[in-house]
Amino acid sequence: MIKYLIGIIISLVVLTFVRAVWGIIQKAVVDEVKSAVSDDPTPNQANSVPDADTTLRKCVTCGTYKAESLMRRHGDGDKRIFFCSVECEKKANS
Ligand SMILES: [Zn+2]
Repeated sequence: MIKYLIGIIISLVVLTFVRAVWGIIQKAVVDEVKSAVSDDPTPNQANSVPDADTTLRKCVTCGTYKAESLMRRHGDGDKRIFFCSVECEKKANS
């Protein structure tokens, strides 16, 4: 009888523990999603747009640094290269 009671108590404790952990995980996930949804657009719009415009890029032909928004861009991602002017672009292509 005592063994039976101990078994019930242990299973209750384990259940409670699992539920608590599961609750914490769910809460963490929900908070994560909420913060990703609610926080992301504002800092991203505030940061990435001016960053993209003002980040200095090096002209691959003459080595001049200019704001990215003023450069002529070729390619995407890591393979992006920048030219400061049409002349430098032509030089690179010829
Ligand atoms: Zn150049």
